Parts: sequence; C-alpha cells; structure tokens
Amino acid sequence: MPVPSNHASPFFDEGVKLISYCPLCESSYNPREARVLGEKDDSHLLHIQCGNCANAIIALVLISSVGVSSVGLVTDLGFDEVNRFKSNDAISTDDVIETHHLLQDEAALFSRLAIA
Ligand SMILES: [Zn+2]
Repeated sequence: MPVPSNHASPFFDEGVKLISYCPLCESSYNPREARVLGEKDDSHLLHIQCGNCANAIIALVLISSVGVSSVGLVTDLGFDEVNRFKSNDAISTDDVIETHHLLQDEAALFSRLAIA
C-alpha cells in the first residue's frame, strides 16, 4: 500500500493551524513537518515532528460543517513506526493477563522470549 504523502487539500492548512505549536517546547510548527498517516472522509490523521526539539505528535483533524477541530497526542514514535504499528491488532485483556502472569514467572517469561 502506498504511504500517503503530503498534499494540500483546501482544509489541510486550516486544520494544521489549530495545532501550530509544539506542546513540549512551544516552537511553532512548520506545516511541512506534518505528514499524513491516513485520511477517511473528513478526518485526517497527521504525524508532526517538531523541528526544534524533535518530539512528535499524532493529531486527528476533523472537518465538519460547524468548523475544524483537532486533538493531539504526544508520541515518541516516528512516522514509519506509527505506520508499522497502526495495522497491528489491539492489545486485549487476555494479553494483559498473560503478560502479568509471565512477569511473575521468570522461567516461563524467558522460555517465551526464546521462542518469540
Ligand atoms: Zn518542540
């Protein structure tokens, strides 16, 4: 599947203005630092890496008839890493319980790591 690249839709720049500052160092983002992770209808998922401190956010930009809104999440994942993990299965309750049990049993943990 080709990775979506930067492109200018009429609403793209407007959405990026809402998340125009790095939440960690407060430098203003260069819109060119935003890369599109995915788009569906009027929602756009962006990865923006700060050119000053190199931290990144994943931002969901929603465009509706009443305006544009966005929500951002600070991440240490790079653009390629987000792409790699976004198609993985979600972590289930069973996964968490199994991990908890493995952490209590060192022998089982290491035998599990050996076959992974
Ligand atoms: Zn920054």
